[in-house]
Amino acid sequence: MTHNPNPSDKALVPFVSVDHMMQLIHRTGIREMIAGIARNIEDDFRRWEQFDKTPRVAAHSQVGVIELMPTADDAHYAFKYVNGHPKNTADGLQTVTAFGLLADMDTGYPLLLSEMTLLTALRTAAMSAVAARHLAPKDATTMAMIGNGAQAEFQSLAMQALCGITDVRLYDTDPAATAKCAANLAGTGLTVTPCRSAEEAIQGAGIITTCTADKRNARVLTDNMVGAGVHINAIGGDCPGKTELAEAILHRASIFVEYPEQTRIEGEIQQLDADHPVTELWQVITGAANGRSDARQITLFDSVGFAIEDFSALRYVHDAARATGLNLPLDLLADPDDPRDLFGMVMRAAPARKAAPVEDA
Ligand code: NAD
Repeated sequence: MTHNPNPSDKALVPFVSVDHMMQLIHRTGIREMIAGIARNIEDDFRRWEQFDKTPRVAAHSQVGVIELMPTADDAHYAFKYVNGHPKNTADGLQTVTAFGLLADMDTGYPLLLSEMTLLTALRTAAMSAVAARHLAPKDATTMAMIGNGAQAEFQSLAMQALCGITDVRLYDTDPAATAKCAANLAGTGLTVTPCRSAEEAIQGAGIITTCTADKRNARVLTDNMVGAGVHINAIGGDCPGKTELAEAILHRASIFVEYPEQTRIEGEIQQLDADHPVTELWQVITGAANGRSDARQITLFDSVGFAIEDFSALRYVHDAARATGLNLPLDLLADPDDPRDLFGMVMRAAPARKAAPVEDA
């Protein structure tokens, strides 16, 4: 019989695997789950000042980035580990993968370890919809979706569920990505139109989402493509030297950001002077600052992804995993019965000595 010398229940950390996350999405409904995460994000953005905040800690290479994203309030601490490697898809790997943890500030013990590749797609979609609800023209029913990779369907469904988008116009430099996205969105109730260029995709769109992956200062949208009154949701520019919009667009737009200290390093606004005015989205949500104030205004959500959004998403999964039992107890923390006898716990785990062979009589 094997004996686990580390028996404490409080040290077993609930772990939500990729399989459990997919089951949770199916049980909850993908739009409902995005809406639930969006509610948590709005609640947490309303109490923005209660959080510890720092720009994420990034390790850059020629081909990508690995980032740690920590934040905490009085009760909980969270971090996400995430990578961004645009060249990965050519090798059959994801551009973005992630996992993360929620912990109890009182004991420092983890409360949840979770996959976050799927959860990042859900929370990024929820965040886009929260921003668009405050910034996009109220009568927008068409969205251009430029970049049809891993995030694209999540973005489209969030805008359908939370912002009343009925039509999505798709464009990607790789037609196979557009075909994949169109096939996945069939039967969702969205009218989906594959397009042959970004110019074609933005025709009639009140919301333009750019979600491309390319490690350079790209020009996915040029100045002449952006007319008055649209809302741009720019997701793919999220690293130094990795942007999507022509600078001239930024000078015509009212720019909204998550956390300026991080966005000035990573977002579209890295192309602008460090004192260029931006509005923090949390202040729009609390009513302290204006969102869209006139019909001809170009609003830009310069999204890079901030730790509080992951905190909100982990809170959602923590509650949902508890309610559904969709988690595994992980033997992650060494926690001896006598807290000071860590060494003794190791010794008691020594493999039992084999019984000596019985001598022939
Ligand atoms: P992905 O690699 O799966 O998809 C990116 C798509 O962009 C690919 O299909 C590619 O062909 C296409 N593309 C590249 N250049 C293009 C161009 N000029 N015009 C049109 N299409 C182009 O990546 P993904 O997981 O969907 O992520 C997309 C981007 O969003 C990445 O850059 C990622 O870093 C970023 N991201 C941001 C956040 C955030 O919170 N802001 C969160 C997640 C991902």
